[in-house]
Amino acid sequence: MFVREITENIRFLKKVGPKTASLLEKLGIKTIADLLYYLPRDYDDRRIITPIKKTIHMDRACIKATVTAHDIIGSSRKQALKVFVQDKSGTAALVCFGRNFLARTFVVGKTFYIAGSFSFRFGEIQTTSFDFESADKPDLSSFQRIIPVYPLTEGITQTILINITTQALEKYGIGVSNELPDGIMEKHRLPDKKTALRDIHFPQTPEALEKAQILLKYEELFYLLLVMKQQALTRKISRTIRKPVAGRFKEQLLARLGFSLTDDQAKVVREIENDLFSPHPMVRLLEGDVGSGKTLAGVLACLAVIEAGEQAAFMAPTELLARQHAETIARLVEPLGVRTAFLSGSIDTASRRHLREALMSNDIDFIIGTHALFSEDISFKKLGLVIIDEQHRFGVLQREKLMDKGAAPDMLMMTATPIPRSLALTAFGDTDISSIKTKPPGRQEIITHLAREKNEQKVYDRVRQELEKGRQAYFVYPLIAESEKLELKNAEQMYDHLATKIFPGFTAGIIHSKLSEDEKKSAMDRFQSGELSFIVATSVVEVGVDIPNATVMVIEHAERFGLSALHQLRGRVGRGTDQAYCFLVYSDNLTEDAVKRLKIMMETNDGFTIAEEDLKIRGPGALLGVQQSGFFKLTAADITADFDLLTTARDDVEEILAKDPGLLQEEHKVIRNVLAIASPFQGGYTHVGTL
Ligand code: ADP
Ligand code: MG
Repeated sequence: MFVREITENIRFLKKVGPKTASLLEKLGIKTIADLLYYLPRDYDDRRIITPIKKTIHMDRACIKATVTAHDIIGSSRKQALKVFVQDKSGTAALVCFGRNFLARTFVVGKTFYIAGSFSFRFGEIQTTSFDFESADKPDLSSFQRIIPVYPLTEGITQTILINITTQALEKYGIGVSNELPDGIMEKHRLPDKKTALRDIHFPQTPEALEKAQILLKYEELFYLLLVMKQQALTRKISRTIRKPVAGRFKEQLLARLGFSLTDDQAKVVREIENDLFSPHPMVRLLEGDVGSGKTLAGVLACLAVIEAGEQAAFMAPTELLARQHAETIARLVEPLGVRTAFLSGSIDTASRRHLREALMSNDIDFIIGTHALFSEDISFKKLGLVIIDEQHRFGVLQREKLMDKGAAPDMLMMTATPIPRSLALTAFGDTDISSIKTKPPGRQEIITHLAREKNEQKVYDRVRQELEKGRQAYFVYPLIAESEKLELKNAEQMYDHLATKIFPGFTAGIIHSKLSEDEKKSAMDRFQSGELSFIVATSVVEVGVDIPNATVMVIEHAERFGLSALHQLRGRVGRGTDQAYCFLVYSDNLTEDAVKRLKIMMETNDGFTIAEEDLKIRGPGALLGVQQSGFFKLTAADITADFDLLTTARDDVEEILAKDPGLLQEEHKVIRNVLAIASPFQGGYTHVGTL
């Protein structure tokens, strides 16, 4: 049985009650399979015992020592137990804040294994956070071995995870079968899946761990590439070539615009048109920095298909953005006689029914919407082209579903998060990529200023100057409302504060994800029309919103945002010809990474550079980094750090397919399993390659 097929609920394990189960669910663990694939983020090698004297030179250490005495420290209300332990090299103090009950455990004369981080303070060697186990225990559970360190959530401890993972391995681990073809296993001398699964959690040696890691990573990459190749093959199917069009719509639209296409826009439009009239369906990624004019390029592609008598669908990740696109697009193409429509989940039933019929009878040429476009009940008369805007926001399955709506429609994905070249070549090797590198002329570089929170008055003064000129501003906060846990400014309070205290003469609006779609839309409309001078928001305005008269972006607690979010947010301004400004207001106590992020934002406006830097900061080893960069969500592998493995897997896949093209069909079941691992739909930023 494949691991992913072990769908029994974790409730069947001992010690997993309803409360623990719901906490585990927060970590994405519902089934035994989820648990087995919940991999340690690190390991703690507790095989080595360090003499107490030497522990202070190490981050963490494990000692074996005997209790010599107890003491109570602190004032009467906040007393803490202190336990002295000793080995041949010296003495250490275990400070048990809030754990005074340990006095009963640490009996004088008894010997314990103790792991923690030790330091020299107040004239003695101390540790305040430590794990321990009695050395008399016949069966040590977390000492004298390498133990896993799992990512945690409140209420779930390492001990719980170790315990239930052990149970799951004992009960189900034995039945796990290999997923890779035997030939591959032999060629790379990979360990069995069941061995690897055990060793990834509880390795006996670093070597065993490494082997296990290689197997799990390789497996994931192998199937990822296999799926991609499969897609590539289906794409190569021939189709009836679309009959060429005169380009009447394009000509009319360009004549109506007050500007001409940039060279890069013209180039990508040519590339896309070539594909549209070729014998194979298009799968193309259009990358271009925020504000580079991707929408127009996409619209021109749609017009070509519509002129050929087919329908085009344009999908955006949020309702806000989809609506805005629908309006822009209607303004551009309706004068040409193209019939447009908008669809989202909030459209009422009657209109939806009407719209469905119109799509089926080809009374709509161009539909713009959210993922509601691929709901079960929606079908098209003749869907020729699908455009997916901000594609990194969608999951694999969402895209696949839309593709199912037409007989091999062409697909254009648009993104402002560029993929580093090396990744693009391997991972997206079968997708064509078009890039818009330059922005429309007349744009000025956005001027970015950093400001400490205590200097925010100065920022407000600068903003006022802009507002007085008739320009508009965004204020962005990390939270919607006050939070008990985090002392951060939030949109609601700051909206009141800014509207009444700081800028009383100007009209303000607020927008965040808790508002209804209608409220969001009305706020955005009022901002767009110029009725509102400034809008207070959360990162809902991050994606795609386009209001050229907005020239100021203020991001408070900028240190709380990731680089790509900061870049996207900044990209909301500087979309017209006026000088635009971005103020990044930060609070004290910045982490090292936050400093780096803010510095990069100061230094460059270029999305490609920012994407590369983002990868560097998060480090190729940090799995999360790759997940959040928006292109891949894998469990074990990291396509930057494991680039060599990725290349090997690609070569293997190609070699195997050349010999045995049938493998794809045969392995289909496995592929589905692996796809499930790389599951989309968790949050916005997950998808796998160009599946
Ligand atoms: P993005 O690539 O971020 O999706 P948009 O497509 O929203 O960018 O375009 C940003 C702005 O640039 C829009 O207001 C659009 O009308 C304008 N624009 C697009 N192409 C040109 C051009 N060739 N010349 C001038 N302005 C343009
Ligand atoms: Mg856009």
